[in-house]
Amino acid sequence: MKIYMNGNLVPKEQAVVSVFDHGLLYGDGVFEGIRVYGGKVFLLDQHITRLYESARAIRLDIPNSPEEMTAAVEQTVAANQLTDGYIRLVITRGAGSLGLDIQQTSNPQTIIIADTISLYPQELYEKGLKLITASTIRNHPQALSPQIKSLNYLNNILAKIEGTDADCLEALMMNHKGEVAECTGDNIFIVKNGILKTPSTDSGILEGITRNAVISLARQAGLTVEEVTLTRHDLYVSDECFLTGSAAEVIAAISLDGRPIGNGTPGPITKDLKKRYEKLTQGKS
Ligand code: PMP
Repeated sequence: MKIYMNGNLVPKEQAVVSVFDHGLLYGDGVFEGIRVYGGKVFLLDQHITRLYESARAIRLDIPNSPEEMTAAVEQTVAANQLTDGYIRLVITRGAGSLGLDIQQTSNPQTIIIADTISLYPQELYEKGLKLITASTIRNHPQALSPQIKSLNYLNNILAKIEGTDADCLEALMMNHKGEVAECTGDNIFIVKNGILKTPSTDSGILEGITRNAVISLARQAGLTVEEVTLTRHDLYVSDECFLTGSAAEVIAAISLDGRPIGNGTPGPITKDLKKRYEKLTQGKS
């Protein structure tokens, strides 16, 4: 495996960062998780845009231009002969002193890993996932905007632990107002009376690229889509529920806190949108 590091493709054993890197010391950096389907990088422009916006929000100057970064991603995919897989693009603040001051850091590190991924067991794509509500809330927007895809995932990790402790592979996170935000690594949708609903970006979520693609697909299919405030009650009484993410793709959620959603199996609109998303990833829409 060849890893892209700051302009060079190096064997993975040589792909190392300093122990003084603020990405390691403080989670000071940003990242993207991107898919490759049929040798093509999926929705790359949107991931590059979000990466640069995340970096800008934390005052991290990425040394390369977006065009150079796009080329670097494609070069890494080609060097690893990856036709279907997952790319992790990471920018760290770089090595610095043992203090928070970004002025004491230099050389942000650009790392691109091209590998494979299977986030959930294949059978769960047929059966659906069980969810619990985590007590750990999503980032308070006034502490750290959830729109920033930063290397700081600790509260999502704590929520994920609550999920796995309860035998659930995903956990629902609420926002600071007690409204539904998203899951630890996926956005959430429900279907109620034929209408597709998902928390709005004001609900304190990462604006998922898969979320936005699914909203477009649903509208093209003639569905009404509402980006709204959702409560846990809305989820409990919904007809269908599913999650979206670059790694997860589209996967049904069939229960929340032990309560079945709908009839406890993936619903028809979920199945249809999952198929449409698969077509899109294969370059057919
Ligand atoms: N929410 C969170 C917290 C995430 O980390 C992710 C990405 N894993 C998503 C949503 C989904 O975003 P995308 O569709 O852009 O991968």
